[in-house]
Amino acid sequence: MEDCIFCKITTKEIPSTIVYENDKVIAFEDAHPVAPVHTLVVPKKHIANMMELTDEDMEYIVAIHKAIQEVAKIKGVDKTGFRVITNYGEDGGQTVMHLHYHVIGGEHLGPKIR
Ligand code: AMP
Ligand code: ZN
Repeated sequence: MEDCIFCKITTKEIPSTIVYENDKVIAFEDAHPVAPVHTLVVPKKHIANMMELTDEDMEYIVAIHKAIQEVAKIKGVDKTGFRVITNYGEDGGQTVMHLHYHVIGGEHLGPKIR
């Protein structure tokens, strides 16, 4: 989608530090990490947010979950643990309107999100 920053990252029009990639998803380092590990996992299809997901998109959800497993191994948090977050809407604090999952870890995060 035009003017979508994460679409431009999937097509490499905008550079990113890629952690993992396959035909369905790309995972790259968050520009403003909130923890030692903070990687974003993004479908290579413009889906605005989790409320826009349709049955046809489920292959992307499967791919995202599998990619999260790969990211966890690559970043070395597969044994220590991590948190996965997707923000939606105003109260959720979504700022980029292309579905993405934050993989956060590398330290003990505690019970609160922040
Ligand atoms: P959210 O608030 O859930 O929409 O998260 C958007 C995330 O995207 C934030 O954590 C930003 O730091 C991150 N972000 C925005 N632009 C970029 C970019 N060009 N490269 C990497 N991360 C980005
Ligand atoms: Zn997009």
